[in-house]
Amino acid sequence: MLEAEPARQRWWIRPPMPDETLRSVINRAAALYECPPKRLWECLNWDDPQPYGEIDSPALRVLRRMAIAMGLPPSDLSAQRLPDAPWLLAPQADEVYCPLCWTDDRRRGDPLWFRRGWRRVLRTRCAVHGFPLLLCPEQWTSWPQVREFQLPDLTAHEQRILELIASFGESLERSLYEGAPWPANLAGNPHAARQLLIAVSFNMNKVRDIPLTKCIQTSGNLAMYVHGPSHHQEPVKKLRWDGYREIADPSIRRASLWIAAWELMRERPDELSPGLSRLPPVVERAVWRV
Ligand SMILES: [Zn+2]
Repeated sequence: MLEAEPARQRWWIRPPMPDETLRSVINRAAALYECPPKRLWECLNWDDPQPYGEIDSPALRVLRRMAIAMGLPPSDLSAQRLPDAPWLLAPQADEVYCPLCWTDDRRRGDPLWFRRGWRRVLRTRCAVHGFPLLLCPEQWTSWPQVREFQLPDLTAHEQRILELIASFGESLERSLYEGAPWPANLAGNPHAARQLLIAVSFNMNKVRDIPLTKCIQTSGNLAMYVHGPSHHQEPVKKLRWDGYREIADPSIRRASLWIAAWELMRERPDELSPGLSRLPPVVERAVWRV
């Protein structure tokens, strides 16, 4: 159908869920037709010479095309738009998900769908379950039939570290973007905290190396939820928030939030330490301009 009449697509899928992203809608339609989402998107817009916009915030004529493909009035889709903003993951970042939400979806017989709240760059846990968000597996359409999903056990100590990371990220988001006061138990200010997140997430050395997030020390099952990137990086040329927003994997973002939280806490219980001795001078300079 897609090859023969790309302009007359009909997506026989359930209407969007209240908090669903438009990208999630495309993913579901693409899964139905067993084609890559990018291909479905291109077929939908194949004869449109104008820019389409991002999938999550397309041009209005593209939104109308999507609505027609689903047999819905365009107004039903406009609330699903998620225009790019500094508190969100970059538009091209991969999807993240909560395994407990998807377990609930499966139990209800609902399709697996992506929530808009999962795309907030400083939020690393599910607003419904409080569970750490994870990077979506590539074969997500067969989740969890590929393998039965098992929640690893976490000790009380590991859960305290996750709580510290999540609450720090949420406080930082409120201070940066909602005008909330900077918490009294933290030193510095929200802008220094954001700069710190970027500086520890990228290679600050002059040669190919690892970022500081790779140096954290985790025990037991915590490493599944908090870890650095798997590859060495080229030296970063400029610290950019947009670069940080491209880090889709919540586990890597959690590593940076852990280091930043620890560095800025006025009282630092040893058992919550990420295990670094002190920040390298190059990171200190980037954050405090000293
Ligand atoms: Zn959840």
